[in-house]
Amino acid sequence: MTNTESIFTFIDQYAEKADLLYLEAIVEACNKWIEASEVPNLTDNVSKEEIRRGIQLAVLKGMKENAQPHHQMTPDSIGILIGHIASKLAGDKENITLLDPAVGTGNLLFSVMNTIDNSVSASAVEIDDLLVRLSAIIAELLEHQVAYLVQDALRPLLIDPVDITISDLPVGYYPDDDNALNYELMAEKGHAFAHHLFIEQSMNHTKPGGYGIFVIPANLFESEQAAKLHPFLKRKAIIRALIQLPATLFKNVAHEKSILILQKPFHESRPMKDVLLAQVPTMSDKKAMARFLQEIDEWAEKG
Ligand code: SAM
Repeated sequence: MTNTESIFTFIDQYAEKADLLYLEAIVEACNKWIEASEVPNLTDNVSKEEIRRGIQLAVLKGMKENAQPHHQMTPDSIGILIGHIASKLAGDKENITLLDPAVGTGNLLFSVMNTIDNSVSASAVEIDDLLVRLSAIIAELLEHQVAYLVQDALRPLLIDPVDITISDLPVGYYPDDDNALNYELMAEKGHAFAHHLFIEQSMNHTKPGGYGIFVIPANLFESEQAAKLHPFLKRKAIIRALIQLPATLFKNVAHEKSILILQKPFHESRPMKDVLLAQVPTMSDKKAMARFLQEIDEWAEKG
């Protein structure tokens, strides 16, 4: 058995025996593992990615059983790609700070943290208490430094600006109109789009020169509220890249996603940068993927 399989089997057997919700049981199994009272059978050289993947398999099973449509975990294919992009943008810089304002299970955040390196730390926000407990225990097992806030991320956040904000944005209407009035992207009529407000909040918490990397609905710039988004982005951000994800990753056209990369403007004026407009090839096509990643690397190197 591989380390990833051993971890999944350990958690799954624990969860099947426990008289708990499967996701709750994962938290308990991980606690036992940390206390070393019950542990999976692993080789000495187990990697952080093996640990992340093993737990992720159990979380996927738990999410299916509890049908959590609003808490969809970011799939590995997207997490690993964003990890690659974030590590290229981080370059040689030490002590990179990250923010994920909609951290969920942490799968996206940990893919990124595992790819950057050990000198990375993060702040994470999530409204769902169970997901925070789940994400926090995984962070502990991975020995990643993550500070959690359990709250509505669109309320004021006590978080210092970070180098890179990443987020698989929650998509839909934001019901708290009073709070939404604090945002430039509040709708003229009716509720604002939560995903728009999340972009604004994320850029507010990113350092000048820092990046925001967002998983967005593929139709972000064509939606009914896009008219407010365009001028906002022009004034408050530099659009660095728009990357279309393969349609095969999604159930249907309405669920298709892209990756938007923004940079927060510096104080000093800087020359205009190229916008990378790209399409991720079918991920099983290794040659095409290698060419695509090379294109990303060349773009990131230009800074
Ligand atoms: N990247 C996450 C992962 O890998 O598990 C998945 C993020 S999921 C697409 C969006 C998350 O945003 C959900 O877990 C949801 O509970 C959270 N969320 C939605 N509205 C929120 C809000 N106003 N404040 C904080 N979290 C919120």
